[in-house]
Amino acid sequence: MSAGAAVLGAGNCFTWNKLLIATHNAGKLDEMRALFAPRGIEVVGAADMGLSEPAETEDSFLGNARIKAQAAMAATGLPVLADDSGITVDGLGGAPGVYTADWAETPNGRDFMQAMTRTWAELEAASVPEPRTAQFRCTLVLLQPDGTERVFEGLATGHLVWPPRGALGHGYDPIFVPDAGDGRTFAEMSAEEKNAISHRADAFRKLVAAL
Ligand code: IMP
Repeated sequence: MSAGAAVLGAGNCFTWNKLLIATHNAGKLDEMRALFAPRGIEVVGAADMGLSEPAETEDSFLGNARIKAQAAMAATGLPVLADDSGITVDGLGGAPGVYTADWAETPNGRDFMQAMTRTWAELEAASVPEPRTAQFRCTLVLLQPDGTERVFEGLATGHLVWPPRGALGHGYDPIFVPDAGDGRTFAEMSAEEKNAISHRADAFRKLVAAL
């Protein structure tokens, strides 16, 4: 999420100066810290506060981001920023969507080659014509102690390719070619290149514009 750091200027229009990021992911937390530090906002993570991860039981990115935000605020009373993300494939009716990470689950942890293989196999089975369009999506929910909720939705459009290409990035990056790129997959781009056009960067830009 380092994309946000570049676009967030100095200053803070909020009445609070401590923000809880509802994630247990250390990488996301570091990026958020870099994003908010110039505004004098101290960032703390869910693990720092001893919070457990709530079950993501909704069928939308917004619903699941809201679950994380509301659980974190109920436990701490702090303003909270939560996010949920994943990939939607048009030829699969929007799947895997909120189940993006679930498709990678194995008894021994997450295996994204398994998830990508399943995605492509389902496209083949359904004889979906190329280009096999897809979108990475990121929803941010900012929940303030007065109950005010702000939602920012980011999008990266593109298409899927097979076989996977590139060793950078994570998740489904090796099979996703963004429209805003030059034909390389996200996994063939440097972090800077990906962060300039990613769904997360898009959501951050909207967050920044609202500050
Ligand atoms: P979460 O929002 O951390 O729950 O992420 C859900 C899942 O979406 C991740 O496990 C990844 O598989 C996938 N995902 C989200 N963003 C990206 C991305 O930028 N590249 C590849 N996969 C992603």
